[in-house]
Amino acid sequence: MSGVVFSLPESEYSMPWVNYHTHCHYCDGKAELEAYLIKAIEKGFPACGFSSHAPLPFATTWNMKQESLQDYVAEISRLKEKYRDIIQVYLGLEVDYIDESWSSRNALFGKHSLDYYIGSIHFVDAFPDGTHWSIDGSPDLFFSGFEKIFKNNTQKLVKRYYQLIMEMIENDHPTIIGHLDKIKMHNRHQFFLNEQENWYHACVEDALDLIAYKECIVEINTRSIYRHNQDDLYPGEWILKRIYSKNIPVIINSDAHLTGEIDSGFTHAAAVLKRIGFKTIMVLWNNQWRECAYSVTGIEEKAFSINKWSR
Ligand SMILES: [Zn+2]
Ligand SMILES: [Zn+2]
Repeated sequence: MSGVVFSLPESEYSMPWVNYHTHCHYCDGKAELEAYLIKAIEKGFPACGFSSHAPLPFATTWNMKQESLQDYVAEISRLKEKYRDIIQVYLGLEVDYIDESWSSRNALFGKHSLDYYIGSIHFVDAFPDGTHWSIDGSPDLFFSGFEKIFKNNTQKLVKRYYQLIMEMIENDHPTIIGHLDKIKMHNRHQFFLNEQENWYHACVEDALDLIAYKECIVEINTRSIYRHNQDDLYPGEWILKRIYSKNIPVIINSDAHLTGEIDSGFTHAAAVLKRIGFKTIMVLWNNQWRECAYSVTGIEEKAFSINKWSR
């Protein structure tokens, strides 16, 4: 034996991730809350947050039913206690902003003490018969709404989408802005929207300025990458560069609907953020949002030192 001691370069150590965008069986997630926690513990996560699709005033196949909200909150409270020595569990929701009449300010959500919430736009206006139009459904549904509601006018649709994002930020002040440029979901290969056009840059720029002013966190959502329906993250790299230049805090989230997805695409996202220059990502730890150093394999473990962060 040579007696040589091998050691990995620091960047190759496996460090823990955290994820705060997790869907469970209370909405369209495919597993029970506890199953996600067991997977998160297996992977060495120090914290995990749940963000079921919050109830809506109309029926969908993916939102939590209003009558289930109390049980969701109670179950997460139980799990917080059960696993308190192993993993920190956080109570969140992914709340749709529909319009002034339905948002996170609804009393339904206000009576629960959420640890955070993700504000997302999935619906843009409605068909002539009043049916709310989901922009992240099938391609057929997307292009049907695009034609019937927006007469195939890209600028009208995209400007309306960002107007709703601005209203949501202005009125609701979400902790985290979910998948900021989701409107591009059916735009692979720039089919209907050329992201390099000046008017589109102006829409995004206005939204980012408001996000910076309101001090929201922007989510880097990896679902597009591991589902292979985009070549790019939500938001895309050019938007991430603008976010970096405006010093807006970011978080990496997987939008998991399966337990195996809790950290899917994280290495890819971290590599993109590193390339752009981001030094830290946000982590909710000991009930406080903190900027933490990270590598492409995880968040620096000293961020999770109980002694360091306990008050
Ligand atoms: Zn979403
Ligand atoms: Zn989601």
